[in-house]
Amino acid sequence: MSRVWNFSAGPAALPLAVLERAQREMLDWNGSGASVMEQSHRGKRFIAMAAQAEADLRELMGIPADYAVLFLQGGATQHFAQIPMNLAGAGDSADYVVSGHWSAKAASEAGSYVRVNVAASSEADGYLRLPPLDSWRLDPHAAYVHYTPNETIHGVEFHAIPDVGGTVPLVADLSSNILSEPLDVSRFGLIYAGAQKNIGPSGLVVLIIRRDLLQRAGRPMARIFRYAEHAAADSMLNTPNTWGWYVAGLTFQWLKAQGGLGTMAERNRLKAELLYQAIDGSGGYYRNPIEPSARSRMNVRFTLHDGALDAAFLQESEAAGLLALKGHKALGGMRASLYNAVPPEAVQALVAFMRDFAQRHG
Ligand code: PMP
Repeated sequence: MSRVWNFSAGPAALPLAVLERAQREMLDWNGSGASVMEQSHRGKRFIAMAAQAEADLRELMGIPADYAVLFLQGGATQHFAQIPMNLAGAGDSADYVVSGHWSAKAASEAGSYVRVNVAASSEADGYLRLPPLDSWRLDPHAAYVHYTPNETIHGVEFHAIPDVGGTVPLVADLSSNILSEPLDVSRFGLIYAGAQKNIGPSGLVVLIIRRDLLQRAGRPMARIFRYAEHAAADSMLNTPNTWGWYVAGLTFQWLKAQGGLGTMAERNRLKAELLYQAIDGSGGYYRNPIEPSARSRMNVRFTLHDGALDAAFLQESEAAGLLALKGHKALGGMRASLYNAVPPEAVQALVAFMRDFAQRHG
């Protein structure tokens, strides 16, 4: 077996222990004589597993009892639309903070269902820094405020939860940094995340919503789009992504065994620090363009001093067992994603490779 160090932005690396356990349980899950993918979500075994996954996530994140936890489908992108459908009524407006590709997309998709007020944007700065909090033009009558704590493509991250006042619910797309550190869930009205970075396989969305928001009328729509219906049916309104839910549950158990989110936060901080120090200490050979206070711990962008070396860097890094360092096509350059399942050894190997490459291609 040859496993590589995987820096993919998503779908991304999963913990080796999770993959090995899923492999062990593949043919005969939980003494059932069949795989988890081959049995009813209405069966006793699956329902018990699903409840345990939710309980483990609640424990890990400290999710208060007045929040519902939903295991849904559609990717984060579907919820760009479904959130305004559920939280905004006819004629309502919602505030969007635009700090990179994904928050811009969330705002543009929401526009079909709600009047979008771009309360702040760092687009004119090339998304190299975050829109300063004192520049946010928030509407006290907005249905909600939406922001994206970590921008996966642009590599910028909010390191504190913005204070948007007490009355308008804060909605956050945590797709690329959920579970990377402890989070005060009570500060949010709604949190959502596509699973394929820090949770498990793609095709699953974890959505955490304060229960009073389930009462919002939204607009007339089919039941399948309504979060209140999913909550009332324990996320089994229709057939859920059973495999995704199962692997997510294994990841939550793995996180608990690691020591929880405090341990992950410290590990993630050290990983990012090691890579940023290697970039900043390279004498300009490598560069990260992001304002230091806004740098992402999860997605580290860098360019080489000479773009003509990109192809060699990618080819040699792959040959050295370092996978998926190519940056997003919109930005070029490189990107290393350092999610929970990427161990410190992977970052050490990357940094050693970068030093070696710079010496050989000086
Ligand atoms: N939001 C963020 C922050 C993301 O990183 C991504 C995917 N990379 C998305 C939304 C879109 O997710 P999906 O493909 O699951 O719709």
